[in-house]
Amino acid sequence: ELLTSPLRLAPEPSLPLPMAVYGPGRPNSRGLDLTVESMRAPLLAALATTTLPAVPEFDAKLASSAVATGVVSYQKWSKVAVAERAAVLRRAADALEQQMPRFCALLVKEAFKTWGDAVSEVREAADFLRYYAGEAERIMAPVALPGPTGETNELRLSARGVWVCISPWNFPLAIFMGQVAAALSTGNAVLAKPAEQTPGVAWEAVKLMHAAGVPEGALQLLHGPGETVGAALVAAPGVAGVVFTGSTQVAKIINRALAAKDGPIVPLIAETGGINAMLVDSTALPEQVVDAVVQSAFRSAGQRCSALRLLCVHEGIADGVIEMIQGAAQELVLGNPAELTTDVGPVIDREAFDNIQKHLQRLASTSKVLAAQKERASSATQSIAAMPNSVPPSAFEVRSLADVKDEIFGPVLQIVRWGSGALGTPEAVIAQINALGYGLTLGLQTRIDSRAQALAAGAHVGNIYVNRNMIGAVVGVQPFGGEGLSGTGPKAGGPHYLYRFCAEQTLTVNTTAAGG
Ligand code: NAD
Repeated sequence: ELLTSPLRLAPEPSLPLPMAVYGPGRPNSRGLDLTVESMRAPLLAALATTTLPAVPEFDAKLASSAVATGVVSYQKWSKVAVAERAAVLRRAADALEQQMPRFCALLVKEAFKTWGDAVSEVREAADFLRYYAGEAERIMAPVALPGPTGETNELRLSARGVWVCISPWNFPLAIFMGQVAAALSTGNAVLAKPAEQTPGVAWEAVKLMHAAGVPEGALQLLHGPGETVGAALVAAPGVAGVVFTGSTQVAKIINRALAAKDGPIVPLIAETGGINAMLVDSTALPEQVVDAVVQSAFRSAGQRCSALRLLCVHEGIADGVIEMIQGAAQELVLGNPAELTTDVGPVIDREAFDNIQKHLQRLASTSKVLAAQKERASSATQSIAAMPNSVPPSAFEVRSLADVKDEIFGPVLQIVRWGSGALGTPEAVIAQINALGYGLTLGLQTRIDSRAQALAAGAHVGNIYVNRNMIGAVVGVQPFGGEGLSGTGPKAGGPHYLYRFCAEQTLTVNTTAAGG
């Protein structure tokens, strides 16, 4: 491998550490210390006292009347001053942080989040509320545009109407709240359809929003199966837009359903899956690579859309890197997410477990198994067998990118070596990654700065991470979203997102005495 420019040495890497050591770490914007360690006692108390609510199922036949209720409420909510709507969202963010232990307990119990992931998720939901509150205030003020003498020109944004917000189970609070907050901040009304696996978190989130001042008609929770309730809401006349986060397959179903509707063209914002790759060249720092791989592929049991699925490592350093990944993966503690020391909890349900098993069987017959995590419980009293749907992290070496087909939504890593043949150059590797058709996240590990810049420019993906892990999507810092099979954009948590929830209008006024 030729060095085309001088090495820019990356900072010293940290050694790979079990995930529990990391915690969420980041002090939040209001200076509260909300790390898992500092919250140990309230988190454990909340776990003992929090129960999941029984959420009533919505009757799909009533979709049109839910839209009608939403339209009435939208007409009032859209006329509330943007600063006042923003104040409501900020109140909700404060309330969410005050109830952090309870919401964490709901996430642990319903979505099997580890405590670290739960704390991060509640903070992300609060970040979305505050960020969109500020963004709505920023973009919704009328803008004067330059024009010829004798007229004034103004650009105004307004709410579109009633949005259907359809969310996944893997971030049942943060993504749910992000979609809802974006629509509400801009004056729209919302019909929120959470994933059928996680209605309890959504129910409590909606109660909190109503208590903060969102009118009940402006935010309705409609729980039920996607194929009936979700589909009925998408098909209902009078819906102004649909925002969807979930699988690519369901996004396409919704896209087709919207295209088949009579009446206005309904916009769809879709954020979907990915086959996310990390390219490692021979100048990369192995410890840093291993740390990034373990965090990106196995954290949250791999149930993140941003998770690493495909490691493309240069053949010159592959053996060492693979051996270290195997060693680091063995350090992870699998088990009950309610225990503070657990790194990797179970996957969401039996269906997800069975789906991952099918992929594991396929991979086992075609590829060499590199790492199979021994089952380690998080405490002596806990048996791994007692935790259903636990999937030990594993990694497989595949011969080429042609063997990599689907998003495997679990702690399963595929590894391919590059450096010769069809994968002789990093550019060839990026071209094959692009050809997979997804475009969500990409990791680059190299100490050649100019190479990182050039490869990033040629990659068709939404979020690129150089010499770090690939799972950061801090609101307002790393606006998140992809292209191709990974979604439509605009990026959630970014400066362009709210425009999509608004109608644009120009107002031109003739200011000459004659009036014409
Ligand atoms: P999913 O597509 O199965 O379900 C998502 C939502 O769509 C659920 O609320 C479901 O009830 C609903 N739904 C299902 N069929 C429907 C239909 N016919 N009409 C309307 N709604 C319908 O996805 P999931 O299993 O909940 O989540 C995992 C997927 O989400 C993964 O592919 C992951 O990559 C993706 N994801 C993407 C992002 C992102 O930001 N790009 C974030 C999180 C998750």
